[in-house]
Amino acid sequence: MMRTVYFDNNATTRVAPEVRDVMLPFFDELYGNPSSMHAFGGQVAKFVDRAREEVARFLNAEPDEVIFTSCATESDNAAIRGTAEYYGKDLKVITTAVEHPAVLQPCRRLKALGHEVVELGVDALGNLDLDQLRREIASAGKRPVLVAVMYANNETGVVFPLDEIATICKERGAILQTDAVQVAGKIPVDVKKTPVDLLAMSGHKFHAPKGVGIFYVRRGTKVKPFLLGGHQERSRRAGTENVPYIVGLAKACELARLGMAKEATAVAAMRDRLEAGIVAACPNVRVNGDPSRRLPNTLNVSFEYIEGEAIAYHLSDLGICISTGSACASGSLDPSHVIRAMGVPFTAVHGSVRFSLSRYNTMDEVDYVLEKLPPVIANLRALSPFGPDKDVSTFK
Ligand code: PLP
Repeated sequence: MMRTVYFDNNATTRVAPEVRDVMLPFFDELYGNPSSMHAFGGQVAKFVDRAREEVARFLNAEPDEVIFTSCATESDNAAIRGTAEYYGKDLKVITTAVEHPAVLQPCRRLKALGHEVVELGVDALGNLDLDQLRREIASAGKRPVLVAVMYANNETGVVFPLDEIATICKERGAILQTDAVQVAGKIPVDVKKTPVDLLAMSGHKFHAPKGVGIFYVRRGTKVKPFLLGGHQERSRRAGTENVPYIVGLAKACELARLGMAKEATAVAAMRDRLEAGIVAACPNVRVNGDPSRRLPNTLNVSFEYIEGEAIAYHLSDLGICISTGSACASGSLDPSHVIRAMGVPFTAVHGSVRFSLSRYNTMDEVDYVLEKLPPVIANLRALSPFGPDKDVSTFK
């Protein structure tokens, strides 16, 4: 059997065995509905309560501020569209050009519906201009403002300065929503220290299963419910709770809370070795994203003059899983909106790929990739019509 080296953990992660084990009884033993009147359902409801407490501990939130959803896309939509529904057309929305589509698309929908929506740009390192944020909040005058800024970028790993952004928002009374999907389990999130109002996370990005998400809503934040129906989640998210997945999510939060610091150091050491090895072995590469403000597990590299998709396909044949852009955008050959927003030159933007690691990777896997990747790059470069020493003046 071919070896599989999975370096695509920002797309999704393997479920931790500890998480799988705690979920199993909830499929065929403790399968009652937590809303039922009978004791059998009530027993299950207690596990949901305990899971909520664990997720709250993970975020340093209060349990009643935690709503369980089906995924981060739902949480992002619930935050943005639910805030707009509460405040109406007066609401100004400020977001960034490098958000995940789960944020960009709802914001663009609000724009189509008549809201003022601004997308802040980033510099060449992927950082925001906070003065521009200040100006955009100020220019809303007395109107309500929603600032939707991701905690860390899924493609480059660049971490935005959420503490500073939260301070700016609080000073001016703006509501702050953050897509914290990529920081979960990688850097600590503390909603008391970093006072965001709304936050989205997804279980499958940190070793819980696909299909369960977190929607944090600070007490007192005005947001209309996104899913209407039953009284689950205190009428803030209708629909029978996905109990096994909620219990699994809570276990993933506990594992992350207890193991994050050690894990981040080990994962960063692997990522750094990979980066150094690539830069040493392959000419004409650029590492994308501010190296001083990056998630420990993420490496985004542009290999100039060749296509990222071709690199990913060739590595896939060797059992190595990486991605170009975000998984949601793959399938299209458009260059990544994130890398483009950073002004990466045309010769490099198409050759961008992302390596994203997790605690289940090993140094041996890093060395395997460092052995297999350089010949792939050299072969693709030999086939490419473009290159620093190739004459393209005769191309029409
Ligand atoms: N936000 C970010 C930053 C992501 O990376 C992703 C997934 O790639 C999402 C949102 C969407 O998460 P989900 O698949 O749980 O809907």
